[in-house]
Amino acid sequence: MDDLIWASATELAEALKEHEVSAVEIAEALIARADEVDPKIHAYLERTDDRARRDARASDARRAAGEAHSAFDGVPLAYKDIFVTRGVTTTCGSKILEGFVPPYDATVVARCEGAGLPMLGKLNMDEFAMGSSTENSAFGATRNPWDLDAVPGGSSGGSVAAVAAGAAPWAWGTDTGGSIRQPASLCGLVGMKPTYGLVSRYGMIAFASSLDQAGPITRTVEDAAALLNLAAGGDEMDSTCLKEPVPNYLEGIDGGIDGMRIGVVTEFQGEGSQPGVRARVDESLRRLEKLGAQLEEVSMPSFEHGISAYYLIAPAECSSNLARYDGVRYGRRAAGADDIVSMTSRTRAEGFGREVKRRIMLGTYALSAGYYDAYYGKAQKVRTLITRDFERAYERVDLIVTPTSPTTAFKLGERTDDPLAMYLSDVFTVPVNLAGNAAISVPCGLSPDDGLPVGLQIIARSLDEKTMFRAAYAFEQDLGFDERPQL
Ligand code: GLN
Repeated sequence: MDDLIWASATELAEALKEHEVSAVEIAEALIARADEVDPKIHAYLERTDDRARRDARASDARRAAGEAHSAFDGVPLAYKDIFVTRGVTTTCGSKILEGFVPPYDATVVARCEGAGLPMLGKLNMDEFAMGSSTENSAFGATRNPWDLDAVPGGSSGGSVAAVAAGAAPWAWGTDTGGSIRQPASLCGLVGMKPTYGLVSRYGMIAFASSLDQAGPITRTVEDAAALLNLAAGGDEMDSTCLKEPVPNYLEGIDGGIDGMRIGVVTEFQGEGSQPGVRARVDESLRRLEKLGAQLEEVSMPSFEHGISAYYLIAPAECSSNLARYDGVRYGRRAAGADDIVSMTSRTRAEGFGREVKRRIMLGTYALSAGYYDAYYGKAQKVRTLITRDFERAYERVDLIVTPTSPTTAFKLGERTDDPLAMYLSDVFTVPVNLAGNAAISVPCGLSPDDGLPVGLQIIARSLDEKTMFRAAYAFEQDLGFDERPQL
């Protein structure tokens, strides 16, 4: 097999099965590629080269003995640095966790390790997953492989940059309000947010617990289904994890979309999106029609209030979740304080970045006595209205499509002084988290405006990932997007 860098994970698995390549050769090729490109993009916070080599050797030995743990045994993987990894530094992009070495593995990590996937390393992200550009990382921004002056999106920016640059075949990200789908869209990749509760959150550092979900970042739809297969399903360590049996997401993925009803949101007929994004998305709708889908307009009047509700609910939950970083239990502790109060407040003042502090303050305010009903309570009501909008739409359609992001990748620094402009990146993605549904972003071409990738978001009702994958696969196969960044 000649192209170990650009092969999909499924192709690598196939080549391993046919003994055309060894896991060690794959790991070495990816390590060499990371040496070459990571200095330009800064996707990795921590590379675990030696461990990847060791894991790969063990995998080759298992395969030689006919004891491969899964079809993907030996196909390497990298993780957003929000997943705790036993013995491997995990910072969540924050100075407050600098040097923190967790004593256990997140369930996602444990399941992938169990399937024999060598670990390439930990990927950069916005601090505590708060952001849409990866510029909020305490350890420096990641750059977009398509344009080194542009952001890769966020908060899973390191994950997408590594996969888009050929420095990992696939990666795990997390999505609280769009952090898998938006960066995948900005880097020309597939990014998928499963139904809330489908993948265990155990060992995934909490941002907003009622919204957080882990999901795959891949080059193909098939790989996304395959990676989800490896980790989805019940976990007694996460009480919000669904107990129902999970299907095989690859089964029937090529079933086509003839006769499927696909909804287009009346309230989002393009205003607010860049012309180039609009052009590609309109073209995609015609493609879906050509493939046999029936397009239908669905009205979702509450959709547009998603951002306002999200930016109260997510900060409220984060202000509570981040209370645990007190200088006692994890990571950093400020030096020189003489009592516990000043130690805690100094640790937090030094350890958290601006955006995290802003969110903690917003959330604390929204939850405080006298304001709770007006802000947090009202946001929860809006959340219910959004969920109902989706339910009503699903009475008429099987799936809903929107752009993933209103714009292509923006320049580094362009939105850092304007948090509101940054928050608006999430307009199409946050409603899905609020409702808990599944969604995927698939590349739908390059924007005629700037030559950068555009993503199409396909949203499905909760636990209807299979229908979503089927549509995404049909679309992907018909489009045949095979552009790659020149880097
Ligand atoms: N961009 C959104 C935020 O800043 C979403 C982040 C995420 O999904 N983790 O909160």
